[in-house]
Amino acid sequence: MVTPDIFSAEDLLSKPDLFAGFEPPVRLAVIGDPIAHSKSPAFQNAALHACGIPVAYARLHVPPSEFDKVLRALPGAGFLGANVTIPHKASALAGVDVADAYARASGSVNTIVVSGEKLHGFNTDGPGISRAIREEFSRDLRDLRVVLVGAGGGAGRAIAVQCAMEKCARLVLVNRTFEKAQLLAAELAPYFLSEPTSGSDDRVVAIRLEDGDLRRELKNADILINATSLGMDRSDAPVVAASLLHSNLLVYDAVYTRGGSRLLDDAVAAGARAANGLGMLLHQGALAFEIWFNRPAPLEVMRQALLAH
Ligand code: NAP
Repeated sequence: MVTPDIFSAEDLLSKPDLFAGFEPPVRLAVIGDPIAHSKSPAFQNAALHACGIPVAYARLHVPPSEFDKVLRALPGAGFLGANVTIPHKASALAGVDVADAYARASGSVNTIVVSGEKLHGFNTDGPGISRAIREEFSRDLRDLRVVLVGAGGGAGRAIAVQCAMEKCARLVLVNRTFEKAQLLAAELAPYFLSEPTSGSDDRVVAIRLEDGDLRRELKNADILINATSLGMDRSDAPVVAASLLHSNLLVYDAVYTRGGSRLLDDAVAAGARAANGLGMLLHQGALAFEIWFNRPAPLEVMRQALLAH
């Protein structure tokens, strides 16, 4: 039987035996709403095929109202695991039986392992961007002074927690809704304490999304990371004014639309080194593969499949 491109919540809930009937059987899926745009099946199936693992990876279109039921139905339908994407990552943390420390701190789960009847949750978004930055810029997050715009969103929070866990040189959290950045800065300050009594040395701060504050911080920053949803459409206003970018800055845009973004164009025009979010997408997927199969992911196969998609 040819594997359909997209399954529904109804398929999983009312026909759990359906997934074993394909060749190879469907044992993994990405769960989201919407889901048609997801690039994960392209590179995960390429990886499974290259490693000779007789398993298919599908898309599962699941609205929020059905998500908890679908999560609980995964073991009975023979799934080994799943990825979770918008808008379910926070619900996935609440829905799994056990979550690792990073998933708990980032408030979301994007990778699930089915172990008997139990669901184990992980988040590979933060480790994924860390690997992507090393690959793109030959620099480690822990050595960088980071300005993170969009720190109040799901991806922004995951990236901020990763920066904190790696104890990056400085972390400046920026968000349109300033209070979210402030709360997160307070929450992450303990990661930067070198001695119990030494204070956080202002190594993590929150600023408003305003040119004056951004100009001051970007002057002394090594990397600007955009984790806002701005840039998904090329007509979007740039999240940071072009005049604030400079040639000593690395610019990483978590957005990965074909044709690039205004931010990346402006960064290149300012002489900065810039990269889009495809590397983060690739590495979060490779890390999920490693969690499911406890073996290295075939990274180049996955990269080629992603680029060809
Ligand atoms: P989200 O939870 O909806 O967060 C959106 C963020 O963007 C919030 O910080 C929000 O600020 C900010 N924002 C939205 N509109 C804005 C505007 N007009 N001006 C300034 N800030 C604005 O979304 P998400 O799931 O974190 O995703 C954010 C982006 O990351 C998306 O483009 C997504 O594609 C990308 N992403 C990429 C990867 C990857 O692997 N490369 C993985 C995950 C996500 P407020 O808090 O003020 O609303």
